[in-house]
Amino acid sequence: MAAAVMPGRCRCGRDPCGALCLLLTYLSVGYADYVVLTHVLPQPGFRGSLWCPFHAVAFNLVVLLLLASHGRAVLADPGVVPLPATAIDFSDLRSGAPRSDEDWTVCNRCETYRPPRAHHCRVCHRCVRRMDHHCPWINNCVGELNQKYFIQFLFYTGLASLYAVGLVLAAWLRPADRSPVGTAAGMGGDISESRFQTAHCIVLLVESVLFGAFVTVIFYDQVMSIITDETPLEQIRDRVLKEASREATRSRKPKLALLREVFGRGFVICWFFPCNCSAPAGTGPAYSYLPNYDV
Ligand SMILES: [Zn+2]
Ligand SMILES: [Zn+2]
Repeated sequence: MAAAVMPGRCRCGRDPCGALCLLLTYLSVGYADYVVLTHVLPQPGFRGSLWCPFHAVAFNLVVLLLLASHGRAVLADPGVVPLPATAIDFSDLRSGAPRSDEDWTVCNRCETYRPPRAHHCRVCHRCVRRMDHHCPWINNCVGELNQKYFIQFLFYTGLASLYAVGLVLAAWLRPADRSPVGTAAGMGGDISESRFQTAHCIVLLVESVLFGAFVTVIFYDQVMSIITDETPLEQIRDRVLKEASREATRSRKPKLALLREVFGRGFVICWFFPCNCSAPAGTGPAYSYLPNYDV
């Protein structure tokens, strides 16, 4: 008999490192937006042209999508394996009774059965379906149900970083900025303000390059883990097992099908928005933590 399924509600334990990273993320995004709006776009290269309001709206749109996808990644259930309503009797495990579904394993910490590809997170203290890793930047696990939002967050962070670098460089290199009239000194001799502005732009450049490079690497790893159908945890395991049983248990799906399992089966354009255009495959209330066992 399969016991009733507990609601899949687990909010991951908020560790101090995760809370600090969340704060750092919001401060960094807020600072980048502040510098772009108050120190980059008002520069002579943009001021007075239609490009100024255009870039202001476009940059804030990217920032909005970044924050929306980040919020979804933070708050969404990553795919926590529900705990049983009552304690499970594992005595049949010790008796060596034959199993009808050997893919399911037992988590000694959660004291429950867990589906294939679920792993225990030591920060969240719960098992998570197709767990990729625990990310302090979203203070949550990256798992089957929130990986899409996490990748969107990486994408928009990279895009915002690239955009910010482009705006700073454009403001510095545009001809109007090099003209005597265009310089801050030429427009009123406020050299200290110009230095203040330049300092903010340099900090923004450094921040954008660091964050941009960081998220690009993680974005690449995430996409590769999807199209190879192997999470980092499984890569480590398979390295140990030398893929002994993997070929027998894992189907070779097309890359597009694997991407659709994470991003949904709607139009590809929906992959870029942090909304539930269509639920990823394998999700939904039909999930049971005890599909084939009698306890
Ligand atoms: Zn567990
Ligand atoms: Zn976790």
